[in-house]
Amino acid sequence: MDNDTAGSGRERLVVIGGDAAGMSAASQARRLKDPGALEIVAFERGRFSSYSACGIPYWVGGDVPERDALVARTPEEHRARGIDLRTGTEVTEIDVARRRVRARDVDSGAESWTAYDKLVIATGARPVRPELPGMDAAGVHGVQTLDDGQALLDSLARTDGRRAVVVGAGYIGVEMAEALLKRGYEVTVVNRGGEPMATLDPDMGRLVHEAMTGLGITMVNDAEVSGLLTHEDGRVSAVVTEGARYPADVVVLGIGVRPQTSLAAAAGLPLGAHGGLLTDLAMRVRGHEDIWAGGDCVEVLDLVSGQERHIALGTHANKHGQVIGSNVGGDYATFPGVVGTAVSKVCDLEIARTGLREKDARRVGLRYETVTVESTNSAGYYPDAALMTVKMIAERRTGRLLGVQIVGREGAAKRVDVAAVALTARMTVEQMTALDLGYAPPFSPVWDPVLVAARKAAAKVRGS
Ligand SMILES: Cc1cc2nc3c(=O)[nH]c(=O)nc-3n(C[C@H](O)[C@H](O)[C@H](O)COP(=O)(O)OP(=O)(O)OC[C@H]3O[C@@H](n4cnc5c(N)ncnc54)[C@H](O)[C@@H]3O)c2cc1C
Repeated sequence: MDNDTAGSGRERLVVIGGDAAGMSAASQARRLKDPGALEIVAFERGRFSSYSACGIPYWVGGDVPERDALVARTPEEHRARGIDLRTGTEVTEIDVARRRVRARDVDSGAESWTAYDKLVIATGARPVRPELPGMDAAGVHGVQTLDDGQALLDSLARTDGRRAVVVGAGYIGVEMAEALLKRGYEVTVVNRGGEPMATLDPDMGRLVHEAMTGLGITMVNDAEVSGLLTHEDGRVSAVVTEGARYPADVVVLGIGVRPQTSLAAAAGLPLGAHGGLLTDLAMRVRGHEDIWAGGDCVEVLDLVSGQERHIALGTHANKHGQVIGSNVGGDYATFPGVVGTAVSKVCDLEIARTGLREKDARRVGLRYETVTVESTNSAGYYPDAALMTVKMIAERRTGRLLGVQIVGREGAAKRVDVAAVALTARMTVEQMTALDLGYAPPFSPVWDPVLVAARKAAAKVRGS
């Protein structure tokens, strides 16, 4: 086993994880420091680098024709830019005291140590896969990586059956339900919660439920999966819940993710209540001068509640990587936190949220008012004007905006960005009513739906 050292007077940056956070960090550090000053070695367990897992549902559904379209930068392209990216290589240990990592070649099993001056941990998240009978059967798929997406597509091609069951109704489950529907499957979504999209309040989740049912998706709520049944050949045949059985030719799991921090935990690095690494504002692991972490393996500060949360989103991972790369490269950058903005869709129904749900507000002891308004995405008289529902939550007395959820047709989802900016600026709903938002009949009514909600919320706060 080699004990490889940086040598020749230059520093060595070692990156664990070759996707959004890791390669953004590596690329930004490379932009700032040339190979003569900084050697960059990145380890990636899989075959791909800088890929968009976010695009998997659209690739599986056929909107994106091929897998390679989801790869922003291949390993060869990274190497050509002076990053020694070692794919098919898994880091199995971080030795903080001796500033080195142990890596194993996935194919040969050969192991070696690589010394670092600076270390970036960007190991992402691991999908939840409960230990239930039948979980490992053929035809049961996660969708975390491009290899997972390929395995699912191969599996769909191998079976003639057209019944798909999606377990989990978060945004990945909902997006995968659409993908399978588009491929001509009869889709059932089995959900533990009371309504799909638990990142929304149940009254808004109910709208998603109704829309999914309208699309021909069978939505089963309040259902805990107890196991999977298989055919004699070992392929999945049904998903079983207490009291029901849902026939399945293919099963897709979208039950959520947890930070992938076993390496970091074994190395004694600090983890938070949600299992993610804890960092400072510069994304430096707390208490460790030369170790940074970002992406799905860290916890982030929720600027609205003031608490740490784990939110696995590519939008954060890329920003974290940029911040880390800037700091490692000798510049200065910080990541102040998030307000919890997320958008998704199921067919033509757009779903958006930012800030706190009612239960989040209650959990942190905030008292609040809520309003829900229905409006249209364009002037009511404009052809094809379609409805959207906006729910707004504001703090009682102060009127500070706490959260917004939007469900509706075209143009609904990205309206949440106005609310995300207002939350970041800690605006009150009263202040929001004066926002100078664009208007022309094809784009919105004279009073944009977000402004209508803000007016109604401001009136309610005044009344409280
Ligand atoms: C189906 C799907 C849809 C999504 N849609 C959206 C969306 O619409 N919007 C959004 O913002 N986000 C979305 N996301 C989330 C987004 O993809 C992730 O937040 C983002 O990829 C996180 O980037 P990351 O670099 O932190 O982790 P990852 O992308 O998980 O990358 C971590 C990498 O580290 C590697 N690795 C882990 N451990 C080791 C080790 N010990 N040694 C070597 N390599 C290791 C892994 O193989 C992996 O390639 C989606 C995710 C999925 C799965």
